[in-house]
Amino acid sequence: MASTPRFGVVALVVAAGRGRRAGGGLPKQYRALAGSTVLRRSLKAMRGHPAVDAVLAVIHPDDSALYAQSAAGLDLLPPVVGGATRQQSVKAGLEAIAAQGGANLVLIHDAARCMVDAATIDRVLGALVTDDGAVPALPVVDSLRRGVERIEDSIDRSGLWRVQTPQGFRFTAILAAHRDADAQEATDDAEIARADGLAVALVEGSERNMKLTRANDFQLAEALLGQAMRTACGLGFDVHAFGPGDHVWLCGVRVPHSHALVGHSDADVGLHALTDAVLGALGEGDIGQHFPPSDPQWRGASSDRFLAFAAGRVAERGGRIDHVDVTLICEQPKVGPHRDAMRLRLSELLGISPERTNVKATTTERLGFTGRGEGIAAQAMATLTLPCEGDRP
Ligand code: MG
Repeated sequence: MASTPRFGVVALVVAAGRGRRAGGGLPKQYRALAGSTVLRRSLKAMRGHPAVDAVLAVIHPDDSALYAQSAAGLDLLPPVVGGATRQQSVKAGLEAIAAQGGANLVLIHDAARCMVDAATIDRVLGALVTDDGAVPALPVVDSLRRGVERIEDSIDRSGLWRVQTPQGFRFTAILAAHRDADAQEATDDAEIARADGLAVALVEGSERNMKLTRANDFQLAEALLGQAMRTACGLGFDVHAFGPGDHVWLCGVRVPHSHALVGHSDADVGLHALTDAVLGALGEGDIGQHFPPSDPQWRGASSDRFLAFAAGRVAERGGRIDHVDVTLICEQPKVGPHRDAMRLRLSELLGISPERTNVKATTTERLGFTGRGEGIAAQAMATLTLPCEGDRP
């Protein structure tokens, strides 16, 4: 490395994780949040700080296209592919900075802490005047107890801290610490630094600098960001006729029957109605627009993919599915014995809990085409929460 590093301060944004605990199908750093994505907010927070000279993201090898969307138009160093663990990903990022001429200081930041503020970054950088490393942290204010089902032990909370990111370091010192680190996974870079003998200062963190992990964290973050949300409902209706066969697909479940349903795909009338309901709530047309029956690739296709597509659109729009309700209309087969399996399958396909789904059935008292046993009809309603107009990513 040259004696004078190329950069003063580089921000390394770690975004290689697969975190899906937040639901919605996408890794959480790529989920929409109040008109942007989590990663884009983190990248902009770092790039927008006046002391930061360059920003480099570490990403998962599968996420190149997602990254390109989140980074569009931002002035960043090319992203680096991370490793199997966070520690390996950080090391890959540090080595990439070294290969590009090095830095005086590095800020290592978790992409999921996308509401980091400039004052927190200032405090971390300020401490690096005297210390090798510095981390933002908040004192533990809740009482701490250890136990499984009952309290077994009390823990003195004095002197205990909740540690956040960005964690700042003198670049050559933390690079050496990562190169020296053993294979045992550390949960943060301060641990790697201390294991290598570096002094790490505690500076004041921020309650807003929360790590978005679970679905509820996104709702809290939307509230903190003042994101206005609205409720949207959509209706769906579908019919398929009976033909020769020995089973039907209903709400993603195979149900034995004296006939099959005729259709271009697997003819799952329940999933078709529900897909239309979700698309309707999104204001994004209907299933035929997205999966044209004239397209041979959908011949015999499992309708799972149609509903998963609609659910993915909800996540991309920064929304969530609050509830779905499906009514199957037929004399036969009997739906009741399969109802729980159908709710479970819907919850899997939509990434929501089974309590947010309902499947019910009715006959038409032997009237009409369903009454004559000529086919099955389905109605569905989907209730979504979406960001207000004008806030699309
Ligand atoms: Mg259909």
